[in-house]
Amino acid sequence: MASNKKLMIMAGDGIGQEVMTATLKVADWLSKHRSISFDVTEGLVGGAAYDAHGTPLKDETLADAMAADATLFGAVGGPQYDDLPFELKPERGLLTLRKEMDLFANLRPAMVFPALVSASTLKPEIVSGLNIMIVRELTGGVYFAEPRGRTTDEDGTVRAFDTNMYTPPEIERIGRVAFDLARKRDGKLTSVEKSNVMHSGILWREVMTALHKAEGEGVEMSHMYADNCAMQLVRAPKQFDVLVTDNLFGDILSDTAAMLTGSLGMLPSASLGAVDATTGKRHALYEPVHGSAPDIAGKGLANPLAEVLSFSMLLRYSFDQGDDADLIEKAVEKSLEGELRTGDIMADGFTATGTDGMIDQVIRSLDELSR
Ligand code: NAD
Repeated sequence: MASNKKLMIMAGDGIGQEVMTATLKVADWLSKHRSISFDVTEGLVGGAAYDAHGTPLKDETLADAMAADATLFGAVGGPQYDDLPFELKPERGLLTLRKEMDLFANLRPAMVFPALVSASTLKPEIVSGLNIMIVRELTGGVYFAEPRGRTTDEDGTVRAFDTNMYTPPEIERIGRVAFDLARKRDGKLTSVEKSNVMHSGILWREVMTALHKAEGEGVEMSHMYADNCAMQLVRAPKQFDVLVTDNLFGDILSDTAAMLTGSLGMLPSASLGAVDATTGKRHALYEPVHGSAPDIAGKGLANPLAEVLSFSMLLRYSFDQGDDADLIEKAVEKSLEGELRTGDIMADGFTATGTDGMIDQVIRSLDELSR
């Protein structure tokens, strides 16, 4: 039975287009073999939109993304756009989408597939079997709160300042996303702040504690200072299941966690908006963590697995198709045991391949797993 989910596709620039084309082969496989099909709308974003329309995101494309059940995004940017004015830069297309869709929750899983244990800079026993989820508040805190700016005193002293401000509703809504995720995983949540030295941290801890009492049934929550968390992430990362934190700490901690896994070409992400009380739907955008990789763009060398795993997150969190997401993740894991690998995850004993070879290996794994 077809379910006709509205899927918006924005490949963007550089390898964004290559990894998207590859990932659509997985979507196509699902349409043929599983009980799901997609009503796909495509839109230009970033440099591709600028080249065609003189803007990194047309209003119509934004409207299509707002109307879709979920958006799968590639990557934007490239050196040919470096001299464009700020408002026309490719990255503005992505930032506008995040802002207009009010995507306040950024989900960054850090998983280490068994076949890639040696790609991490940490010892195998520290990262083997690692599977953590970092939930970062994305639209508030120090990157947005006012006052922020730069002044010069009469005596010539320059001051630059930012404000790390949160309100209880902002903390509650990201907290709810984290509790929901923890319930679907191992039921463990670590709330991260610096309540020892920051007022915003004290409020964060108070609100998370109250929310846990009111709505956190089935979730075991603990608190941790952000500096200790950074240390624990490289000392014993497997102690964590879900981590929730503010915009600034989340930015840093999610990159730290990402590097535990070894390759940028393997890292997916999701950005979620609030659930609409009437429709029960939420805006959501899924994208690989990597950029448009101009150094390898157009050569067919990009690893498509981060985009494939972003698509699997989309199925899990927007389409409630956990079984299909599980199958894709198993196929990725199995494909990593195959003989072909892209350059970014190359190791002794494997044969070099490109985007097509890697995705064909995933499709073969899907075929084998579903026999
Ligand atoms: P990048 O992620 O594009 O590339 C960093 C390095 O990782 C490069 O050597 C690249 O070849 C490699 N790499 C990245 N993804 C890979 C993959 N899937 N397979 C194999 N190798 C891969 O970061 P950058 O070089 O700092 O930025 C390039 C452009 O991308 C810039 O214009 C930047 O603004 C943009 N960017 C966009 C996003 C986004 O769209 N969300 C994110 C980051 C950077």
